[in-house]
Amino acid sequence: MSDHSNRQIIIFDTTLRDGEQSPGASMNLAEKMEVAQALVELGVDVIEAGFPIASPGDFEAVSEIAKNIRGSVICGLARCRKADIDRAWEAVQHAQQPRIHVFLATSAIHREHKLNMGKDEIIDRAVEGVRRAASYCANVEFSPEDAARTEHDFLCRVVEAAIDAGATTVNIPDTVGYATPSEMHKVIGLLRNRVPNIDRAVLSVHCHNDLGMAVANSLAAVEAGAGQVECTINGIGERAGNCSLEEIVMTLRTRNDFFKADTRIVTQRLVPVSRLVSAVTGIQVQRNKAIVGQNAFAHEAGIHQDGMLKERTTYEIMRPEDVGCAKTDLVLGKHSGRAALADRARDLGYVLSAEQLGTVFEQFKILADKKKEIYDGDIASLIEQEILAVSELWTFDSYGVDTGTGRTPHVTLAISRGQERFATEMACGDGPIDAIFLAIEKLTEVPMVCKDFQVHSVTVGNDAQGEVSVEVEHNRRIYRGRGVSTDSVEASAKAFLSAVNRIAAVTNNTKKQ
Ligand SMILES: [Zn+2]
Repeated sequence: MSDHSNRQIIIFDTTLRDGEQSPGASMNLAEKMEVAQALVELGVDVIEAGFPIASPGDFEAVSEIAKNIRGSVICGLARCRKADIDRAWEAVQHAQQPRIHVFLATSAIHREHKLNMGKDEIIDRAVEGVRRAASYCANVEFSPEDAARTEHDFLCRVVEAAIDAGATTVNIPDTVGYATPSEMHKVIGLLRNRVPNIDRAVLSVHCHNDLGMAVANSLAAVEAGAGQVECTINGIGERAGNCSLEEIVMTLRTRNDFFKADTRIVTQRLVPVSRLVSAVTGIQVQRNKAIVGQNAFAHEAGIHQDGMLKERTTYEIMRPEDVGCAKTDLVLGKHSGRAALADRARDLGYVLSAEQLGTVFEQFKILADKKKEIYDGDIASLIEQEILAVSELWTFDSYGVDTGTGRTPHVTLAISRGQERFATEMACGDGPIDAIFLAIEKLTEVPMVCKDFQVHSVTVGNDAQGEVSVEVEHNRRIYRGRGVSTDSVEASAKAFLSAVNRIAAVTNNTKKQ
């Protein structure tokens, strides 16, 4: 068909919306702002910042991002309902470039079992929704949810009607991760050939990874002419996640000879942003993850190493520095200045304001007095404590535990909620950490069940800081928490409190800040 050479594919990042829907990945406002800023630096074209009608917290996050983040289109999601669309507009209206994303399910299975609507009703509802969105904003995206399982004839009708009603992007979601690459290729080709007004809109894809094919399916769509890919950092998202941003971007870059398409992404920022998202969501990146995994550029086999030494392209198709994978864990110390810290923070994926940098630098000096060498992990945890501190409801003050083999621990704990101090003294638990957990539950009055508890050292050496990550269940939802300290019991207390703060942020959104 048309000439594909050097086409620029629009990268639509939904880490803050679909990604945040991963169990336990909820982010607070400060964290979302940090991620949004990092996505701008990465060169993402469109940031889907949230689903404004879903909760007051979602609304606030989308609205703050729209007001403060410059450089990318800011998008808010809405069902095909008046109230949703109005709320989405209210949230994104202050963006430099706002977009409203309206979705409505079109597959037979969703029509019959979820919506209880006929085909004509679906078309009417879609047209009404797109028109309403277009009355607010020139940039409107429409998604026929579960498009990959929708009858082709009907899909063509819906897409044509949505474009006529004012949709400037039409997104084809494989909502349940069911499609195969050749099917995806076929459906995009079909829409391009059969929908008469298709040239008036950008065709997009949104693929889920339930069968591990999200990236392959998205690439097949690009090959067939799709102009936008929806994806997330580290591929996080509902269930098995979404198409991974770093994989699709590096495939288009590395195999430009084949796809004849590229993106605006600053690939040297991929690893830093991946680290940031992993740190704020608590979802670790698997070691062998393509592009951003710890082993992605590690050559272990002797025969490979030999080849690499002679000529790196024998076994390497990308250079680690092209994805921002720093070779050395640069060590900072007592005498490192503010500029060195700012530099390191940037490489780790953080974009700090002058004020934030000032506070982190003070903490850095204190830590440098306790510890000779400051590693990346130390800096990341200092920054996270600084970022998290912004919206922390509860803060840790002090603890004491007196215990031993065969004895019930005797625990004292003091925490604060704003200016208010709370303290308790009790004998409970199976050990010091269990006792702290019970004391926190008592003081905060937030019932939780601890589902997972892990301690790792942030860096190396005897004076390394301990990082505790916890997963707790509250009202059948999973929340994560992290705490860092050179004392692992204190780190545990901080981790449980940070989980309580996340619970409070979700359940008390209206009261927050
Ligand atoms: Zn999705």
